[in-house]
Amino acid sequence: MPRERLHLFDTTLRDGAQTNGVDFTLADKLAIAGMLDELGVDYIEAGYPGANPIDTQFFAERRPGRAKITAFGMTRRPGRSAANDLGLAALLAAEADAICFVAKSWDYHVRVALETTAEENLASIRDSVRAAKAKGREALLDCEHFFDGYKANAAYALACAKAAYEEGARWVVLCDTNGGTQPHEVEKIVGEVCRHIPGDRVGIHAHNDTEQAVANTFAAVRAGARQIQGTLNGLGERCGNANLVSIIPTLKLKADYAEKFDIGVSDQALARIARVSHALDDLLNRAADRHAPYVGESAFATKAGIHASAIMKDPATYEHVAPERVGNKRKLLVSDQSGRSNLLAELDRIGFAIDRDDQRLGRLLEEVKEREAMGYAYEAADASFELLARRLLGRVPRYFEVEKFDVNVEQRVNAKGERVTVSQAVVKVRVGDECLISAAEGIGPVNALDLALRKDLGKYQGFITGLKLTDYRVRILDAGTGAVTRVLIESADETGDHWTTIGVSANIIDASFQALMDSIVYKLVKSGAPA
Ligand SMILES: [Zn+2]
Repeated sequence: MPRERLHLFDTTLRDGAQTNGVDFTLADKLAIAGMLDELGVDYIEAGYPGANPIDTQFFAERRPGRAKITAFGMTRRPGRSAANDLGLAALLAAEADAICFVAKSWDYHVRVALETTAEENLASIRDSVRAAKAKGREALLDCEHFFDGYKANAAYALACAKAAYEEGARWVVLCDTNGGTQPHEVEKIVGEVCRHIPGDRVGIHAHNDTEQAVANTFAAVRAGARQIQGTLNGLGERCGNANLVSIIPTLKLKADYAEKFDIGVSDQALARIARVSHALDDLLNRAADRHAPYVGESAFATKAGIHASAIMKDPATYEHVAPERVGNKRKLLVSDQSGRSNLLAELDRIGFAIDRDDQRLGRLLEEVKEREAMGYAYEAADASFELLARRLLGRVPRYFEVEKFDVNVEQRVNAKGERVTVSQAVVKVRVGDECLISAAEGIGPVNALDLALRKDLGKYQGFITGLKLTDYRVRILDAGTGAVTRVLIESADETGDHWTTIGVSANIIDASFQALMDSIVYKLVKSGAPA
């Protein structure tokens, strides 16, 4: 049986840009559009041309791709003709393949927020769709508050949707704008709408306010909707939009959907989806969600020893899909709870062939347990674990030695009479016969130390230029002998790899120094730097 086409509409650059703390530059937007196009989505909603200068520029500079670049804006204003509406004119003028209009479909909102009549709102929808089509654009209508509107006045909500459909809009998108609708309600209402408008003209736009945006999306698909709107990593206002990074793998890997639908995303693209998700976090300078379904670092991590030995025999015992399909990795956590099986499997993954009865295995297990009692947490620090294992098995070169470092925090009054706090670090490093001294100023003492450490590593400098810190986390632990500080540092490099290192000490600078050192040494090992 031929599979039905299900269309993906990404709105990371429009609705996702509403996320608290997210501020895309033009370069960000162009980079994200490139990633989305490679992933294989059908539509990229890029913003509000005419209403926002960066968006206007995006449409002017957009590069040709497979996906339809979509402009977003309001239907013509009530009481004006389409020809006499500046906002609509800017939308029509943008270099877009499609235009997605947003209109109210809840009669209460039409009266109270728009202060116009139900009939004028319908006329505005028809006129706007007609204007877009006359300009040669594909037209879509986002029916704002559709589900709440439908519950209050089904006939009117439906009339709004039908006005756009009958005027020739390619898609009528049902929006759960407040994000409070439940999956069973979505399924029922979308089913009723699809009796009036064919499902292959109906889309779903779900928000995550009850953490069911993904479930609501699938409910709509089951009821007949054939366009899915969502964002990468579920970005979006308040609790976010439906997360395409979770939706796409489910559509590709779960038989009920995979057998029925073609979504235009290749297996190769699917295998890059974890990368895409992390690349977006990098761009936003935020830490990746370790527990994100499919793509999170913990999505395929197993801790208990008994599970680990089963996984080694047959991964399907504890994994719902194979991690490689989505570009993720199986991870067997090494921790004080873990037995030899986890340790062996983890060593195997990082490339150490070691016999189950090798005495060194017992020593490594003891070392891990001892250090975890001090506050180390190797399950959260894969790179530090790998270095610990390599050191115990005698395979980490001594690339360089930090002979001493000095970190200085000074608060003083500057020339303008303001109180400022300045952090400086000086590091003395020995690389072979060379002695290198570097100094740096930073935002804080750890930042200064990091900058000074990475400033000049002599012959190794070339190996670490792509290294950057992406996250820094501190926790104060009560480790029996008093409070200690645990620092976790996440790093990334030019290849898109991520790793985490750890440091523990009573002193936060010392703990940070350990984690920074591990990150640099790990990068050197990984890059094959010569001893
Ligand atoms: Zn929205």
